[in-house]
Amino acid sequence: MLVLLQRNVPETVANDVASRLRMFGLSVHRTDHDGQVRIAAIGESGAAEWDTVRSWPGVAETRAIGAPFKLVSRVFRPHDTVITVGRCTIGSDQLALMAGPCSVEGEEQVFTIAAAVAKAGATILRGGAYKPRTSPYSFQGLGEEGLKLLRRAADANGLAVVSEVMDSQQVQLLARYADILQIGARNMQNYTLLREVGHTDKPVLLKRGLASTIEEWLMSAEHIVSQGNAQVILCERGIRTFETYTRNTLDLNAIPVVKELSHLPVIVDPSHGTGIRNKVAPMARAAIAAGADGLMIEVHHDPDHALSDGAQSLYPEQFRELVEQIRTIATVLGRRI
Ligand code: PEP
Ligand code: MN
Repeated sequence: MLVLLQRNVPETVANDVASRLRMFGLSVHRTDHDGQVRIAAIGESGAAEWDTVRSWPGVAETRAIGAPFKLVSRVFRPHDTVITVGRCTIGSDQLALMAGPCSVEGEEQVFTIAAAVAKAGATILRGGAYKPRTSPYSFQGLGEEGLKLLRRAADANGLAVVSEVMDSQQVQLLARYADILQIGARNMQNYTLLREVGHTDKPVLLKRGLASTIEEWLMSAEHIVSQGNAQVILCERGIRTFETYTRNTLDLNAIPVVKELSHLPVIVDPSHGTGIRNKVAPMARAAIAAGADGLMIEVHHDPDHALSDGAQSLYPEQFRELVEQIRTIATVLGRRI
């Protein structure tokens, strides 16, 4: 249930309403905007006597939250969530540009790419140190050594770091090196992992599962937020369809659909979404035009020798050109890089 308080209610009254709701055994989440406190009281629907709640001092109104996802819905929080990471405010009028290699492969590789993407205008360096690979014989990532390199390369270029966490036991380790914890598509419904990142204070980039509906994706975001971490960034990265000319089918429909349902920022990964280098830029442009809050792009200076996803990685020069095009599109939309 959503409990709306009267405008400019004193803090003591708001706290009082929250603690009385907790006494019903409900879990309480709060958002403040424009002098109005909104409280989501979650739990057994019959736990509270709602007619009585409506008569409590400070309470203006109660409303059912119809959607199965509560805290990530706009019913609870009508205004956009903005997440600050380094120099970037994700979900604001500033577009978030995350770029870097699929995998961290070594010092020279990650420093070369970090410098190139920073110069082009990216603010966040991506790179996997723990890689979910279809084959156990493929490169699995450099592990902690990779995280150290990624952090150093990012710091040397004024960038923040996003990197994938594959297992709930890795969360604390990743949190030491990364500014954003990435949950990969294959782990979107790993609820133990979602709960674990929900207990941290790090922003979480939640990729959409390969075969997940938008509702399942938002429910996974709800798992994280329900644990107390409200800083979730959704990432559309393509879903599996019957189409075979592209690696995945990039579902740009998801952007306006999610934007209406949820206050969370949505970014798009056209690298995994298409799987093909020369399809990345057109879909990146389309994603921004459709209202995405940013992009995650794989970039490699020597993609023919990349240890993963070389075929979909842009050359640094292609990334630079793309950023210039995005800059132009952004101005039309009243946004900026
Ligand atoms: C990645 O970002 O390199 C990755 C493995 O992504 P996804 O989980 O979307 O496949
Ligand atoms: Mn990849």
